[in-house]
Amino acid sequence: MRWFLLVILSFGSLAAKAENIYIKNVTVLTMDADRTHQNVTVAVSGDRIVYIGPKDGAPLFEYTDHVIDGTGKFLMPGLAEMHGHLPSSDWSRERQERILFLYLAGGVTTVRGMLGDPIQFDLRNQIKAGQMDGPTLYLAAPSMNGNSVSSPADGRAKIKRYAAQGWDLQKIHPGLTRAEYDAIADEANKLNFPFGGHVPADVGLEHAVEVGQISLDHMDGYLEMAGGDKREMTEEDFTKMVALTKASGTWVVPTQELFNVLIGGGDVTAMTARPENRYLTPDALASYQRRAANSNANANPLAVKNRNRLLKALADADVNLALGSDAPQLFSVPGFSIWREIESMRDAGLTAAQILKSGTSAPGRYFADKDKFGTITEGARADLILLSEDPRDDVTALFQQVGVMAAGRWHSRAGIDARLDQIAQDVKD
Ligand SMILES: [Zn+2]
Repeated sequence: MRWFLLVILSFGSLAAKAENIYIKNVTVLTMDADRTHQNVTVAVSGDRIVYIGPKDGAPLFEYTDHVIDGTGKFLMPGLAEMHGHLPSSDWSRERQERILFLYLAGGVTTVRGMLGDPIQFDLRNQIKAGQMDGPTLYLAAPSMNGNSVSSPADGRAKIKRYAAQGWDLQKIHPGLTRAEYDAIADEANKLNFPFGGHVPADVGLEHAVEVGQISLDHMDGYLEMAGGDKREMTEEDFTKMVALTKASGTWVVPTQELFNVLIGGGDVTAMTARPENRYLTPDALASYQRRAANSNANANPLAVKNRNRLLKALADADVNLALGSDAPQLFSVPGFSIWREIESMRDAGLTAAQILKSGTSAPGRYFADKDKFGTITEGARADLILLSEDPRDDVTALFQQVGVMAAGRWHSRAGIDARLDQIAQDVKD
């Protein structure tokens, strides 16, 4: 008995107490079909949404940590960054914490980490236990590419090892031969271990989706199919690409903003003036400026135009589209780069509804075998953003966040701002 009590006590001291929270009198965008609830109470206990409905029917908690007034405000699911980068072992603890908090500060409550490092398992567990603030993490294994895989047999052996280690998917990078890629795909399919990311040149888009690649990140492989870096793509091209994507059920993570800059260049002065750059170290900002200037020197506006028309065609055909910005990569501050991605999607002609879905219910569907999230429904993970304006009217309302809840932990605007100010100070040194 005494031993049992000791275990309970020591566990209790490690894990943060589950919070009970009410958000009252709020308009809820469920993102589950096309449903809105007006003037309802949402109750959260631990990391789950436990109730949505009239205030009289809400469960009575033994204790309540927060009562949030949602009058005149809009509650939507937190956003997912479906192509994000996460800390690695050689980073300082301070830098690890900073990046993970920045994601939350932008309303990103889920990250699909796209470059594996074993430390990410620890970070994921610490976030889950409430010892560190951050989004829920899903983790791609270390990259498979032309340098990290030496033969088809080596690819198979690595897939077996990574699947056994508990990674959520395999990251594919350029440089794999077709034989290596096929061995990797075959072994991964046998183990029911998803693989996604880039489309190696030797493989091509059609073959990648044929053997079951789960996601085409950066819209890799599409322009290559049609020589879209050299000629204006036609309706016929788009029809073929949409049909291929739709039939395979593969996911598309456009990372449009990054590629607008990478292949189209961009206004370096305007990008430098973005307010979120105050969370970058001076070195990072300078390297972004150099890289963007270099992109400008080699800009290909035709390819950018083709990508934008393709993105619109894919969204209108309702393919599996997921929001992702590839932070931190190039003028892409974690959490805030998702806002830039949202602006780029809007500029490509996507509707607010298409964009909102790509960042909430769609990623929830992608990870449906892991957890329930991305909708405001009972039993879903309590990942929420409280907004002062309706994002369905203007998607930039997403940037007016009153607070963010990540797996049931509430971060008020004031709390987020105070920590952001601290980060702005820290990166100067
Ligand atoms: Zn990436």
